[in-house]
Amino acid sequence: MLTIRIGVAVMPGRENPISILDVPATRQTQPLFGLNNQQLIKILQQFKASAYRARQLSQALYREWSEDLDAVTTLPKDLRERLAQAGYCIGLPSIVETFRSVDGTERYLISTNDGQTVETVWMPEGDGGERGDGSGAGYHDSTICVSSQIGCAVNCQFCLTAKLGIIRNLTAGEIAGQVVAVLKRHNVQIGRDRINLVFMGMGEPFLNYDAFMDAVRLLVHEVGIAESRMTVSTSGIVPGILRFAEEPVRPKLAISLNASNDKVRESIMPITRKWDIQHLVDAVRKVPLRPKEKLTFEYVLLGGVNDQLLHADEVGRLLRRVDRPLKVNLIVWNPGPQMPYDMPPPERVAGFQARLRQHGIPAFIRRPRGRDIYAACGQLKRTVAAKTNLSAFPLPESL
Ligand code: SAH
Ligand code: SF4
Repeated sequence: MLTIRIGVAVMPGRENPISILDVPATRQTQPLFGLNNQQLIKILQQFKASAYRARQLSQALYREWSEDLDAVTTLPKDLRERLAQAGYCIGLPSIVETFRSVDGTERYLISTNDGQTVETVWMPEGDGGERGDGSGAGYHDSTICVSSQIGCAVNCQFCLTAKLGIIRNLTAGEIAGQVVAVLKRHNVQIGRDRINLVFMGMGEPFLNYDAFMDAVRLLVHEVGIAESRMTVSTSGIVPGILRFAEEPVRPKLAISLNASNDKVRESIMPITRKWDIQHLVDAVRKVPLRPKEKLTFEYVLLGGVNDQLLHADEVGRLLRRVDRPLKVNLIVWNPGPQMPYDMPPPERVAGFQARLRQHGIPAFIRRPRGRDIYAACGQLKRTVAAKTNLSAFPLPESL
């Protein structure tokens, strides 16, 4: 296979301290992974194969997680050969590097067909936020944090991903492929093991809406993960929320609120100038909730910026206006290089939570996962750049 060789530094947390990473270079193959049954039927028709062959191919792609077209022996050999000659391949994204945290979290660099990498995180036994809220996560639950774009255009001031800018959207296959690559690594058995998905990795899912929702449908209908175990987080892309409200099959919704009023929110999330909090609340209220479903509001606590009790009071009043079943996940800001923020002291975090609870709002403090390997919220950055910064930026000793 054609490869580009990139030298990498050996560093703590690396599973396999080899010094060379082979990344596939761009080539003209057409991945089948990511296509739904209808799309597979269309392709197979060109090869005069019957529709049930598409089902067999789906089974191999999404249930058996085959990596090699030639190994899909349910299809006749000549069909496999003709598909390969026409340039089709399975195209399941593969893990090229693993960083393992002391807390069991793993961060992966997963390669795409054009030689880019995306970042995906595995959190054994839930992600803290989903576990601590009584939502039913059990002993063996694990959570996969999935990226929707390479980089992000939204430019939130506290987020390391924002520093990349937007590099490109991921395809449906690349989004669903992250999940399957990680399931495969951990020998997960769908049906036996409980897997939660959070679309909270790199990127803004609602700015890559169609591919993101195509991936959700593949994950629900083909891979077999229940939509009730999926949560998507948005920075507040109002047209995306309105489309999402109409979806028959969809994850649960989380909103990155992060501030109690427009002034503070504008200063940390410039997108507030396009859609202010009132527009955001109006859109969120249009999402029809299923029985027992709650909206999540995420609130990243930035020391001295949005973590005072008067902010908690404002959040309390604001969320009363939402008038829907909801909870708040408080996230202590995860530091990054050259970011002009501080982590709030623990007593301020506890005080903020207590004040929200006084307002009758279920509020939970999300346990940071994998900070030592830059896997925590807002810390996902691209391969090479992340490496440079990891060594240049010493983490606080308290982590
Ligand atoms: N783009 C989407 C989803 C990815 S970000 C969104 O913004 O909602 C997932 C969560 O991480 C968001 O709630 C975001 O506010 C939070 N986040 C970003 N940077 C962070 C940081 N440095 N520390 C803690 N949380 C952060
Ligand atoms: Fe993008 Fe979310 Fe980071 Fe904001 S917090 S820059 S929307 S990834």
